[in-house]
Amino acid sequence: MSFKSNIRHLLILIFLLIGRNSNYGSKGKTRVLVFHHLDKPTRFEKIITSLKKNYNFISFEDFVSGNICKDKINLIVAFDDGYKSWFDFGAKIFKKHRIQPMLFVNSDFIGLASEDAYEYCQKHINTWQEESLTWVQLQELKKAGCTIGGHCLEHTDLTDRNLKQPEIFKLLQKDRKKISEKLDQDTNIFAYPFGRWNESIVGEVSTTDYRYAFTSDSGYLDDSDSELTLKRTNVGMRSSFIAQAYAAGCAERLTSDVAKLRAIVDIF
Ligand SMILES: [Zn+2]
Repeated sequence: MSFKSNIRHLLILIFLLIGRNSNYGSKGKTRVLVFHHLDKPTRFEKIITSLKKNYNFISFEDFVSGNICKDKINLIVAFDDGYKSWFDFGAKIFKKHRIQPMLFVNSDFIGLASEDAYEYCQKHINTWQEESLTWVQLQELKKAGCTIGGHCLEHTDLTDRNLKQPEIFKLLQKDRKKISEKLDQDTNIFAYPFGRWNESIVGEVSTTDYRYAFTSDSGYLDDSDSELTLKRTNVGMRSSFIAQAYAAGCAERLTSDVAKLRAIVDIF
């Protein structure tokens, strides 16, 4: 973990301790918490157990159909990329705690042999090596109640200036088609790789027939500007205290405070 990232987590934790969060007046709203690797199952279960005390876990379908708790803040769990640990460790924990996460996968990552999956992690996702899920495992996770969405071929940063519009469309469309075929579904949710997006990419995602697209801009789903720029809060496999701070909205408070400080500094 980088020095900058450690400082950010420390500040977010301090914000939690001094009560600087965005939960006040937010009962009935919904937040999506994003994870990637599930290689620390004990820690993940601790995070879920501690969050369950104050929050209500729902699925994305619950959110869409208005099946939410109005007296608490609702949480949806999401995982990105398609790691084998979701099946090896996650399936049991999801069932035990009755959570139905959204799983966003790169269709060309699923079903790779170990060595190829390791290379994909390093080359495309820029993360540590882990095996990928098989399509059969993904089908099992779907049967257990997970909602599966697209994440683009090659985990492409779609905001890369060298990419031309037809190429972007092809990467998105091929990915959506393969997931839909393999899982026998009409795939309608998508997560921007690296959380990166701009207005032109939103247009391409809409043309690909995705109904909902998720960013990594922290905040409540309810406060998103559109169904194609839905907010999510990136948590990762950190301590349950840090997860509490992210769930409480301390990340967006920190971002907004830093922006205000920068504006003040700019005046001088
Ligand atoms: Zn990703």
